[in-house]
Amino acid sequence: MSKVDLEAVSKTYDKVEILKDLDISVRDGEFLVFVGPSGCGKSTALRMIAGLEELSAGTIRIGDRVVNNVAPGKRNVAMVFQSYALYPHKTVAQNIGYPLIVQGLPKAEINRQVREVAETLELTPFLDRRPAHLSGGQRQRVALGRAIIRKPDVFLFDEPLSNLDADLRVSMRAEIIRLRERIKTTMIYVTHDQTEAMTMGDRIAVFAPLRAGNDRNLMQIGTPDELYSRPANVFVARFLGTPKMNIVTAHRDGQLALVSGNAFSEGALPDTPAEFLLGARPEDIRLGEAGAPGLSGKIALVEALGYEHVVHIDTDAGTIVVRLADKTLRPVAGDAVSLRIAPDLLHVFDPISQQRLN
Ligand code: ADP
Ligand code: MG
Repeated sequence: MSKVDLEAVSKTYDKVEILKDLDISVRDGEFLVFVGPSGCGKSTALRMIAGLEELSAGTIRIGDRVVNNVAPGKRNVAMVFQSYALYPHKTVAQNIGYPLIVQGLPKAEINRQVREVAETLELTPFLDRRPAHLSGGQRQRVALGRAIIRKPDVFLFDEPLSNLDADLRVSMRAEIIRLRERIKTTMIYVTHDQTEAMTMGDRIAVFAPLRAGNDRNLMQIGTPDELYSRPANVFVARFLGTPKMNIVTAHRDGQLALVSGNAFSEGALPDTPAEFLLGARPEDIRLGEAGAPGLSGKIALVEALGYEHVVHIDTDAGTIVVRLADKTLRPVAGDAVSLRIAPDLLHVFDPISQQRLN
């Protein structure tokens, strides 16, 4: 086990800045997820920790050791990629044991450790098979086994599940979570999938691409609950949660938040500027009858998902999406409705900086 510290880490490819001033401290034994849209530099950050990519600036420490100039093989990290990179002509046992063969351990000891890892990953029945005769999930477990057997200080995962079909992805996700209960090693896990991030991470680091007016990649770092209930800015607010948080421009009128001239909040507002961006999660908005106080709108589309309805409502402030868990409600496209939200459920953002204010 080891902590991992990134300090002011930057990366530039061909004069194009990809990562800037990345400060992240991964705690000893923590499962930290890097999440963000494709192309924002997550893999680059992970590869720099692994030693596969040089830093343009900054410092990376694993434990107490600065590793900027330490070769990948000497960092005691194990990386699991999307492509499993198994040896096709070797058996499962030989694939898992390969790192120990390279280390020159005695055969009996290698066999003992391979059996132990295979047991952990429920691969014992397959030890004599070759990768071609395994399912995608089993191959991924062999790749995990080959990483585990090295007893690294840190595991690095780069989208290990994104090649699997949807069902397998869900079961492998559960498997990695269970594996994590047994192996208390520091893990850094890259994904663009917010569900993986929310369900797997002790904490999540949300990355965004560098762009005009945004000179750093790290948007927020915190527990899944912190990020969901108190997103630090509009980017994080919109990135986590399905359907996405609704964001509309609101004006303060005494104790009310007006949206398109209608009172949207139904009680005393928290402190806000005269004009602000109001964030409302789809599950937090209340749907009332036409004519009731609130933002008026017309139902444009109803997605019936069985366990809930997702309702798209056209308003003067644009389309607002509402989740209705109450199955007794039967929203119908074309119906006029009014929308309201309790003020303690509102998210208030600065209209210019887009940072959270409440
Ligand atoms: P992510 O993993 O978040 O999808 P990456 O770290 O793979 O993003 O890439 C971030 C950006 O850096 C992308 O725009 C990509 O095109 C660029 N990039 C990655 N590797 C290289 C490279 N070796 N040379 C030039 N540009 C690169
Ligand atoms: Mg990537």
